[in-house]
Amino acid sequence: MILIGGLALFTLGLLVIVRQNPVFGLFSQVTSDSQEILVIGVLVQFLGQAFVIFGAMHSASHKLASSMQVERQITIAAVAQNLQQFQNRYQNEQQALKTGYAQTIAKLDTLMANPKSALTQPKVTLPLNCKFCGAGLEESQFCTKCGKAN
Ligand SMILES: [Zn+2]
Repeated sequence: MILIGGLALFTLGLLVIVRQNPVFGLFSQVTSDSQEILVIGVLVQFLGQAFVIFGAMHSASHKLASSMQVERQITIAAVAQNLQQFQNRYQNEQQALKTGYAQTIAKLDTLMANPKSALTQPKVTLPLNCKFCGAGLEESQFCTKCGKAN
């Protein structure tokens, strides 16, 4: 609609410029100066052009807007998905942190409950055989055969 009107104005201005009657006669009633008529013609033509451009942009922007809307929906979906993934990862990390924290706390609790067990070195296991004579060792660290301490 705007396009058609713009084209009509454009044609009108063009007609004025090329001094084609009866349009020229109509304008010549307003002003007798042919220079002014030319200016009016150019103005009308420009106005028509502006309408044409505006109309073209208007229809183009409608298409653009619809495609942008689709794109935006896609973007929103992607963002939502990313957000969901981020939330999942965040929850997982938080869960891991919580688990780690709980384990640390449990360890600390154990340490505080009986600090001796944590501080004392694990009992050194006795060698199975005497390091002097090679005889099998019993419960004691003293060899039953040679009597030396292992
Ligand atoms: Zn021995």
